[in-house]
This record gives sequence, structure tokens and C-alpha cells, in this order.
Amino acid sequence: MTIIDGRQIAADIRQELKTEVEHILKAGGRPPCLAVVIVGHNPASETYVRNKIKACQQVGFRAKKISFEADVKQEEVIKAIEQLNEDSSVDGFIVQLPLPEHLNETHIMQAINYKKDVDGLHPMNVGKTALGMPSVVSATPKGIRELLSRYNIQTEGKSVVIIGRSNIVGKPMAMLLMQKPYLSLPKMASQTLGDATVTLCHSKTRNLRQICLGADIIIVAAGQPNLLKQDMVKEGAVVIDVGINRIEDNSQEKGYRLVGDVDFENVAPKCSYITPVPGGVGPMTIASLLQNTMQVYKTNNRI
Ligand code: NDP
Repeated sequence: MTIIDGRQIAADIRQELKTEVEHILKAGGRPPCLAVVIVGHNPASETYVRNKIKACQQVGFRAKKISFEADVKQEEVIKAIEQLNEDSSVDGFIVQLPLPEHLNETHIMQAINYKKDVDGLHPMNVGKTALGMPSVVSATPKGIRELLSRYNIQTEGKSVVIIGRSNIVGKPMAMLLMQKPYLSLPKMASQTLGDATVTLCHSKTRNLRQICLGADIIIVAAGQPNLLKQDMVKEGAVVIDVGINRIEDNSQEKGYRLVGDVDFENVAPKCSYITPVPGGVGPMTIASLLQNTMQVYKTNNRI
């Protein structure tokens, strides 16, 4: 059984991007720039934004933070988005989710120019991904694809079960893995990612255990600790745990610890590969956001 080291792969990707930025600067170019819009003071969101900005700085990107108080009017957020759409010094930007309830998330996300949508959540990018066209892919599924690819885990003809049908993880993951081989992975030309037979499960799925038992690869993104148990996994399966759940734990300084959606201790011995939480998919999400920023920088500057 191999534990997939997301921290190491993410560090490798950051190093690759740093080298790329150095080449751009040497050639007289300017570094890519990512902007992050944050509304309110949700502690988890503030941590994510801090980490994204830090990651930008580590690889030599510029980063901009645009903050609003939680009671901001929708028009003000849209106005800031329109300014970012027009700002040629900003290559890509994201609006940190979730937004306060009075804001219309769909309207706000659609106001983003899809060419600067580095979260890959704009309908244009989602549609292109669905059609198998080159697109900006949502960061978490992109990171999972990268993990599979860098560990040489083939998906062709494999039975993949995805638990969770969210727009940010489950649906785009299913679209990527069911596609004909993805063309934008030149380094892995010999490698087949995609061409899988995908089953997408959710809270109304019946016989989840039986469906999972038939899977070569299981990707769990449900937000339910211990959802995937030992008796749901066949010997030699690959298990990717996307879940991030806080469990009360007074032995920890913060009073909680993070666990995934998989009963790791009991499932891991049956697996050929498994991601831990933390240290598996999590670090890849920010690394993929940086890759997306570099991708739009190059596309929009025709590099
Ligand atoms: P959502 O809450 O949007 O979606 C959860 C999905 O899981 C839904 O489709 C839901 O079904 C399904 N589900 C919930 N319970 C069950 C169950 N008992 N059996 C089968 N399906 C179930 O979550 P997200 O996709 O946004 O996130 C999922 C998890 O991944 C969370 O823990 C989140 O924190 C984590 N996450 C981690 C990231 C990372 O970087 N590692 C990035 C993004 C998310 P239904 O649609 O029927 O309600």
C-alpha cells in the first residue's frame, strides 16, 4: 500500500512554477498576478485566502486581496469584479466561497470574465470541460488528476466511483475521468487519464456499499467522516479522500483535528494507493489554483 504524498507533489508543482516565473522574468516579462476577493470574516475562508496569497508569493506570483465586510451590497461586489475583469495587471481572480446569504452566488460567479476564472467555476469553463475542450479546470479535481498522473495510476477502462456530486468536486471530477484521454498533459503523453467508467453517487444513491465494492478507484467528496468503511472497498483499490472534517479533539491545541471521509486506519491496508487527510488532496488544491493562474497568464498573453 502506498500513501500518496500530496504535500510533496504540491511542493514539486510550486517549484516547477517558480522556475517558470524565473524564466519569464529573465526574458523581461512580468510575473503572473492572482487576485482574491473575500467577503466577511469566515475564519476558514480567511485561512484559505491567507494560504493562497502565501503560495503565490512562494512561487513569485503577485497577489492582490480585495476585502469586503459581510454586509456589502451585491452591486459593490459586482463592480469590483468588473474592475478586475478590465484590469490588465491581474491575470486571474477568484471569489472566495461561501458568500454571505444575501449575496447571489450564481450572479456573482457569472460576472467573472471566464478568461480570468482561475477557479474554473464559470459556466463557460464548466461547459468546455464537459465537452473535453481545453479549459480552466476546477482546482480540486485538477489536483486529483495530477496526483493520479504523477503516481502513474491508469484510469483507462477502470471502474471509478465518485461519492459526491458538487459543482466544485464531484461533477467536474466525473467529467474529467470519463473523457477520452485528456490532451493537455503533454508530459504524460504515454499515460491514459480519462477513459474510465464513472459512477457518480450521492445521498440518494442506493446500495452505496455494493457499488463501491465494484470500484477500482473510489473518490470520496461528501464531507462525512468515516463514510467509506473497510467493507466497502475491494482489495487493491485506489482511494482518494477529498473530505475535510473538523472533529472535536481536546488533546489538540486548537480543540479539533482534521479527518477525511474515509475510515483511513481500516481502509488503508486494503488499498494499493490511498490519500491521507491532511496531506493528500488538500495541498493539491492550492497548487492547482497556481497552475490555473499560470495557464491563463500564458493564454491571455499568448505565451
Ligand atoms: P457538498 O456538501 O457540496 O457536497 C457533498 C456531496 O456529498 C453531495 O453531493 C451529497 O449528496 C453527497 N453526500 C453527502 N452525504 C452522503 C452520503 N452519506 N452518502 C453519499 N453521498 C453523500 O461538498 P463539497 O463537494 O463542497 O465538499 C465535499 C468535502 O470535500 C467536504 O468535506 C469539503 O470540506 C471537502 N473539500 C476539500 C477540498 C480540498 O481541497 N481537499 C476542496 C473542496 C472540498 P446530495 O447531493 O444528495 O446532497
